[in-house]
Amino acid sequence: MSKSNIMNTYGRFDVTFEKGLGSRVYDVNGKEYIDFVSGVATNCLGHSHPAIINAITEQSKRLIHISNNYWSTKNIALAEKLIQNSDHSSVFFSNSGTEAVEGALKLARKYGKKHGNNDKNILLYMDNSFHGRSMGALSVTGQDKYQKDFMPLMGGVKRIQLNDIEDLKNNFNDKVCGIIIEPIQGEGGINTASAKYLKEVRSLCDSYDALLIFDEIQCGMGRLGSLFAYKKFNVVPDVICIAKALGGGFPIGAVVANERADSAVAPGDHGSTFGGNPLGCAVALAVLNELVDGGIVATVEKKSNYIMEKLHILKDKYKAIDEIKGMGLLIGISLKTSPKDFSNACFKKGLLAVTAGTNVVRLLPPLNVSKEDVDEALSIVEAVLSETTM
Ligand SMILES: *Cc1c(COP(=O)(O)O)cnc(C)c1O
Repeated sequence: MSKSNIMNTYGRFDVTFEKGLGSRVYDVNGKEYIDFVSGVATNCLGHSHPAIINAITEQSKRLIHISNNYWSTKNIALAEKLIQNSDHSSVFFSNSGTEAVEGALKLARKYGKKHGNNDKNILLYMDNSFHGRSMGALSVTGQDKYQKDFMPLMGGVKRIQLNDIEDLKNNFNDKVCGIIIEPIQGEGGINTASAKYLKEVRSLCDSYDALLIFDEIQCGMGRLGSLFAYKKFNVVPDVICIAKALGGGFPIGAVVANERADSAVAPGDHGSTFGGNPLGCAVALAVLNELVDGGIVATVEKKSNYIMEKLHILKDKYKAIDEIKGMGLLIGISLKTSPKDFSNACFKKGLLAVTAGTNVVRLLPPLNVSKEDVDEALSIVEAVLSETTM
């Protein structure tokens, strides 16, 4: 097998995977790994979940794709289910996270156009954020390493410091049409926005008539213990971006909007050939059915408490751990040593974990992970800690 045909955009681990079942994946040599990356918070039901297999099988026999010039029973049903579980009123479907962010940014720009003069177009974004790789999303991704080689990016954006209310107030004015925030920064290092900060953002958005956009692509869909992450912060955004776990591994994303945001758009403003195709929507419906009606989301807090308690014990025992971060099953171990070396050592012992920011290793188990798999994963984490020299 020649790997040279894959473009060189990722620093990959030296492993080729073939199949997965539950929280476990198997490489081409049959070696088993516990998967606490879950496709970076995507495989929320683990691998080869019967509900997903069934949805793909059944829907593929009926209708895989139909142009968005027509309705389909599945996109109507999926939108309805998302709206029933939120404080919002309409959904635009995309195929990925970055496309959901593009949709949200365009929504904010259109909102600014309708509610201001032509100069109400500034988008505020956070330092250390991650919103995706397409040009618009990259323009509001607050990390120089991702932006620097792709200038010039989209204009009309301004980077501010997360949880810094002074910085927020200094940069908010009538020209702002929207602000985009991850309630918990994933890729940037598991940094949690304070409820106080988010309340201040909400009130400034109301005063200056701007849209509050939450990027819940990584922290949403049950990972924090509520289907939508905003419910954990008691602040309701105007617009929510979701993707990753929405399809449980099948590519689908969405922009969820309230009436205030939705009222800005008209036919022709935005679109996507594949967005909201019946196959993707059928899979997402099956996933939501498991997460919400099947009670998986309701188990997250208990699992989180168990893992957090164990990790705090490890923190007291091993000097390499600086801090345990995150909420629900979006967990960060902040290290005083190299997170890359740490995740490599976990990998060698059969545990997949992914780094975040400069000093964090993330644990993102499937939301239906078993206690046995958690215990085994944590014993690998402890074995690596015990071998880590400082
Ligand atoms: C992964 C991610 C994205 C981008 O999603 P893609 O599907 O990779 O385009 C955007 N925002 C956040 C918070 C993410 O974690």
